[in-house]
Amino acid sequence: MYSRLRARSGPWDMIVVGGGATGVGVALDAAARGYGVLLLEQSDFGKGASSRSTKLVHGGVRYLEQGNISLVMEALRERGLLLRNAPHLVHDRAFVVPNYDWWEAPFYGLGLKVYNLLAGKYGFGTSRILSREETLERLPTLNTRGLRGGVVYYDGQFDDSRLLMHMAATAYENGATLLNYARVTGLTRDAEGFIGGVRVRDAESGAEFQAQGAVVINATGPFSDDLRREEDASAEPLIAPSQGVHLVFARDFLPGDSAIMVPHTSDGRVMFAIPWHGHTLIGTTDTPVAEAPLEPVALEQEIDFILSTAALYLARKPTRGDILSVFAGIRPLVKAGGGGATATLSRGHAIHIGKSGLLTICGGKWTTYRHMAEDCVNQAAMLARLPERPCVTEGLKLHGFHATAAGFGHLRVYGSDAPRIQELMRADPALAAPLDPELPYTGAEAVWAVRREMAGTLEDVLARRTRALFLNARAAVRMAPRTAALMAGELHRDQQWVAEQLRSFEAVARNYMLAP
Ligand SMILES: Cc1cc2nc3c(=O)[nH]c(=O)nc-3n(C[C@H](O)[C@H](O)[C@H](O)COP(=O)(O)OP(=O)(O)OC[C@H]3O[C@@H](n4cnc5c(N)ncnc54)[C@H](O)[C@@H]3O)c2cc1C
Repeated sequence: MYSRLRARSGPWDMIVVGGGATGVGVALDAAARGYGVLLLEQSDFGKGASSRSTKLVHGGVRYLEQGNISLVMEALRERGLLLRNAPHLVHDRAFVVPNYDWWEAPFYGLGLKVYNLLAGKYGFGTSRILSREETLERLPTLNTRGLRGGVVYYDGQFDDSRLLMHMAATAYENGATLLNYARVTGLTRDAEGFIGGVRVRDAESGAEFQAQGAVVINATGPFSDDLRREEDASAEPLIAPSQGVHLVFARDFLPGDSAIMVPHTSDGRVMFAIPWHGHTLIGTTDTPVAEAPLEPVALEQEIDFILSTAALYLARKPTRGDILSVFAGIRPLVKAGGGGATATLSRGHAIHIGKSGLLTICGGKWTTYRHMAEDCVNQAAMLARLPERPCVTEGLKLHGFHATAAGFGHLRVYGSDAPRIQELMRADPALAAPLDPELPYTGAEAVWAVRREMAGTLEDVLARRTRALFLNARAAVRMAPRTAALMAGELHRDQQWVAEQLRSFEAVARNYMLAP
């Protein structure tokens, strides 16, 4: 990446600030069209919202209920394209809405039929009403008191930060230059006062440099308004940040293959309990927050709310002691005039062009990143008066594309790279053993992450290349010393580096565990 950076003599066609789903999606789209693109991420790719989602590639049943048909149709189409282009990372999942009231089966049965119909040729499976017995067959741990039956429908599920890595790799293969740990500290202007580039601080070397671009795209998600204020100190905020929390439990809370979808919690939100990487993921909340920290922390009331809602639906009530990991993320929702609950704010995206030409793209969902990027690159090319080039991502297979990756076991998420990781294990059997008995991750994955996936810190490997921290925070801490030693070997670092990595990882990991 550095040699690409140095080799660029003139200005970039596009500079993208922010390495989450939105920014990497834009860099991928622009590079695949043949534009020269530089992406700068202040931390690691996916450090923000994009590693902290519910992991659903979905149209959003709730948006259907809100009457937002165009958003649902857009997302259902994108869901279908993503399954086609990244089958190693996206798969379908059955969701059951359990029914405890007489009206629920016909009501949700009909709603979910409409959901099917809207998906058209991009459909994932037909929804249907289930008897009480069929519901319990799919969800054997469901609370049976008052249970009448259920409705099953199908949606997509994925691994968010892994998908992001594969998008970044695809962008790279198409010519993009992407740097993590490179923070944009300011904007530069051309002779006429228009935004003509960025000032960057490289966190690894401490070096500062400038990069020029025909257009600068602000894809900093929950942080979008900070950069907008760099352009125009009086800019009105666009973002209404909203925190969402998930709790992770052992698989035996939800042993089948189906997920539970609760369409109305006591405060009118949607909640999911989903099998994910051999665990049970339950969430989420929607809490308006004033600021967007890079490492948000779950609030006690959010944890209590998820536990008490889960207790209504599960025969064995999960307790605080059962929580293996808790993670929080900030949704970059686009502000609506007049306040109101963030749960009702649109999940559609917005493109905003500032007074001096800074282009901001924000809002949207993980599911719709490709369409957002298409829209953004069209606008950016027009703004920068670049030659028009058609978008090609609809049929673009993502790095690692593999139609039958499930055969690779937990290495499935690497797709066609999996055999190369297996090769590392064969060459050095010490790399084949799990780093902790509670998780499947091996030393080979840590080595691969450093060599091939731009992992520079222990947290990069344990939180976003593997998902150890998100699945079981204590196991991740146990894995840390051996992982850091392997990384130090790859990166030629000393004991002091190892000690610093362990210290800072353990500080972050404390946010993911509850006191016993
Ligand atoms: C709890 C929760 C659950 C969700 N569930 C789903 C779901 O199931 N399905 C779905 O489709 N969507 C879901 N979403 C929405 C989805 O995760 C977000 O829409 C998406 O990840 C936003 O991506 P982003 O790139 O805009 O923001 P982010 O991922 O936050 O990325 C912004 C990046 O900009 C970087 N940055 C900021 N300032 C600078 C700077 N000055 N220089 C360089 N870099 C900078 C940050 O470090 C960050 O990495 C969920 C969101 C949350 C929070």
